[in-house]
Amino acid sequence: MADTRTTCPYCGVGCGVLASADGTVRGDPEHPANRGRLCSKGTALGETLDQPGRLLHPEVDGKRASWDTALDAVAEGFRKALADHGPQGTALYVSGQLLTEDYYAANKLAKGFLGTGNIDSNSRLCMASAVAGHRRAFGEDLVPGLYEDLELADLVVLVGSNLAWCHPILFQRLQAARAARPAMRLVVIDPRRTASCEGADLHLPIAPGRDVALFNTLLRHLHAQGFRSDAPGLDATLAAADGETGLDPALLATFLDWFAATPRAVTLFSQGANQSSAGTDKANAIINCHLLAGRIGQPGAGPFSITGQPNAMGGREVGALATTLAGHLDWDRPGEATALRDYWDAPNLAAGPGLKAVDLFRAAGEGRIGALWVMATNPAISLPDAGRVREALRRTPCLVASDCTRESDTLDLARIRLPALGWGEKDGTVTNSERVISRQRAFRPAPGEARPDWWAIAQVAARLGWSGPFAWTGPAAIFREHAALTGLARPAPRAFDLSGLSDLTDAEYAALPPVRWPVPRRGTEGGRLTPTARFTPTPYRPPANPTGAAYPLALLTGRLRDQWHTMTRTGPVPRLMAHSPEPTAAIHPADAPDLADGSLARIESPWGEATLRLRHEPGMARGTVFVPMHWTARFAPAARINASVNPAVDPVSGQPELKHTPIRLAPA
Ligand code: SF4
Repeated sequence: MADTRTTCPYCGVGCGVLASADGTVRGDPEHPANRGRLCSKGTALGETLDQPGRLLHPEVDGKRASWDTALDAVAEGFRKALADHGPQGTALYVSGQLLTEDYYAANKLAKGFLGTGNIDSNSRLCMASAVAGHRRAFGEDLVPGLYEDLELADLVVLVGSNLAWCHPILFQRLQAARAARPAMRLVVIDPRRTASCEGADLHLPIAPGRDVALFNTLLRHLHAQGFRSDAPGLDATLAAADGETGLDPALLATFLDWFAATPRAVTLFSQGANQSSAGTDKANAIINCHLLAGRIGQPGAGPFSITGQPNAMGGREVGALATTLAGHLDWDRPGEATALRDYWDAPNLAAGPGLKAVDLFRAAGEGRIGALWVMATNPAISLPDAGRVREALRRTPCLVASDCTRESDTLDLARIRLPALGWGEKDGTVTNSERVISRQRAFRPAPGEARPDWWAIAQVAARLGWSGPFAWTGPAAIFREHAALTGLARPAPRAFDLSGLSDLTDAEYAALPPVRWPVPRRGTEGGRLTPTARFTPTPYRPPANPTGAAYPLALLTGRLRDQWHTMTRTGPVPRLMAHSPEPTAAIHPADAPDLADGSLARIESPWGEATLRLRHEPGMARGTVFVPMHWTARFAPAARINASVNPAVDPVSGQPELKHTPIRLAPA
């Protein structure tokens, strides 16, 4: 059976996959991200293809319906919301699981034609702080480096990243480079002693939220060592560089000295940094140090944000966050919104940013959203303070959910359910964390009546009177429109440019090999970027909701090695479930002297509670508890942790503080 060249749908590494219709899956040796390797999740992709529980037909009010009936109902729901509330009473909540073409269509409908900025992505939970940090430092959301910089570096610093579990192929590349060059050093900065600490040269068990203090300390150290920079903002940034790290002074001094003495240094940061009420400052504090040391845009040197989802980057490119416009255009820059309005012929273009995820569901809970379309994500489980989000969804008069699975807590609450294509059935592009655009290709027929998300969006747009701007013949046509948009004359130079891909024929799009942006002309490909950057002051702020006598422990949530999001795809695969068959709460033994290892414990916070088995783990930082984020009603209803997570957000990025909620423990 012939292999189809496609891309793994799980994480932001974006590994190439060779797949066949019988479910045989192997790594693509020609893909630059993985060179033939796959991790445990990627290897098991074939076992996720024929799962029960697919949503196969549209449903309206709990009954099977035709596509025409369902699409009419969606259009009617949005029409009524526009009449009752105006554009701000409509919203879309989308996902880093969408392909770029689906994302583009959703953003165009919301911002261009519904006239609302209220389209946000679950990427808000993942890397919105990195986006905001890039925009403050570089004027644009760009990742300067390449994966090979991890192999070329003499020092790799992981901040809030369990790379070994969450981006395993990158970790394997890093470990292979260390085996070849034993002098290369690895430093892990994390409250937990994770799998990424195995073999690391240094682990700094920082308390949750203190990363800004650490990188402010490093900035001051670099300056004291004589590092200087012409980039603007240094004096104010140094003046604001405060905060105590709380780390062992000897460990801290080792890190400071190693960083100062190593020109080829990469700092890779991920959700442990981003998911914080100071997440944007963390990104900027890291970038500030690389700027001052001149370690950016060089082989083996730079700050490196790694994304969680397969197409978080694609969503950023098409503006599917409430705070951005398509093509990296921006409301704040003169002329850019006008240029987009003209390009789309969209007189109703949203006048400004919309509601970010946490605020969006708060507005729904207050009855301010009349119609909400959720695509490929499960906010009833994944948002902080999830009990309140569930009530908000229940309260929304027209809740539409597009998904490939029928077994989702959000779908249970939806009035209209639309069957979407899954991996192996849909067709489009994704962009990984090093800016490489790869094709996801279909290699299996669509089950039941499942259809592409972009098609459903275009059908609804047509019913609302906007057929022309959505009359695409397929994903290739959408990609051409998206690529051409990035070449619009813009007042300031931008790195994000796909002009060289804007005239691909359908056949060229079908055969498109992985290509890294910027692509300003045909046949070119992007490399390392050296952005014009500025320093950003990052005064230290503690977490928004501190621990105290009533709630003395800090809850951190995160991923397991073999599970994905709310387990819809990975949960039913026995060999993936075998890695961690039950959700547990990890705690340092000294923090739970009265609760035995293996006992059931109730986690209580001011927002909610959950019940899990306690696991004593000496590698946990004192005062912290780690709980995996994945479990849903389908697999372990009492362990749905996000109902207990506080809804505090970063004031710049709007990213929730998933890495610090005050809690207490009690016997269950
Ligand atoms: Fe898929 Fe990420 Fe594993 Fe690569 S590292 S195979 S993209 S889950």
